[in-house]
Amino acid sequence: MEELQGQIALVTGGSRGIGRAIAVELATAGARVAVVARDESRAASVAAELPGSEHRGYAADVADPESVRRLLERVEADLGVPDILVNNAGVTRDNLLMRLKDADWDEVMDTNLRGAFNTMRAAQRGMMKKKGGRIINITSVVGIIGNKGQANYAASKAGLVGLTKSAAKELASRGILVNAVAPGYIETDMTADLAAAAREALMAQIAVGRLGRPEDVASVVRFLAGPGASYITGQVLVVDGGMVI
Ligand code: NDP
Repeated sequence: MEELQGQIALVTGGSRGIGRAIAVELATAGARVAVVARDESRAASVAAELPGSEHRGYAADVADPESVRRLLERVEADLGVPDILVNNAGVTRDNLLMRLKDADWDEVMDTNLRGAFNTMRAAQRGMMKKKGGRIINITSVVGIIGNKGQANYAASKAGLVGLTKSAAKELASRGILVNAVAPGYIETDMTADLAAAAREALMAQIAVGRLGRPEDVASVVRFLAGPGASYITGQVLVVDGGMVI
């Protein structure tokens, strides 16, 4: 039997990139997956192509607490109370600090940080009743080391680390483990626009000598969701091929 058989996983931003790979990995491990994105048809088509049956796609905006509240109601009615919550939805609005607009700041913080708060608060009740759960937040190495032109994004990802550690302390006694995964440079839509020269410069910093793939992150999420990680909480696992050592 696969290790996540009978479990229900909710993956935000599951329609593309890293989130899609996480949905595939958790479904392969036996979980029934709720794939969440703002674009319902893309979420539904990913849910339909996952291995196994009973997966569902949902439209929700994680930045909106009311949208998240309704999402949890629908998921609980259709699939059941989630055992695993993966906060992966994220956006970038890059610019130098002095050029960042209020809207760039707000959108990134509301999606990347408030979004995780919204889903954690909404999913926590059900996990507490079940007396267990796993929450995995996708942060970034940029949240640890900072990055020029990404002050808003780095702040949101650093905030996610504080949220992860605080929730881990609050929820451990309820059997809920909360960890973060910090990817380095992963090839997805989010990073597709990088100029060739910048890409080369980045490659030179990566010890293993290649850019990351969504599957490199997804396998670590599967581990943190599974029985092998039952004594790990409040940690930030860096998955960057040795970019930041
Ligand atoms: P993509 O841009 O490829 O995908 C983002 C996903 O998030 C999509 O499914 C998108 O769907 C969804 N999403 C965005 N905003 C919202 C919202 N408000 N509500 C619900 N869903 C939303 O990103 P990646 O796969 O590259 O990144 C995934 C996560 O990993 C992000 O948190 C990112 O910050 C982090 N990360 C990525 C790295 C990389 O190198 N790629 C490195 C480090 C961290 P839709 O638009 O339909 O809503």
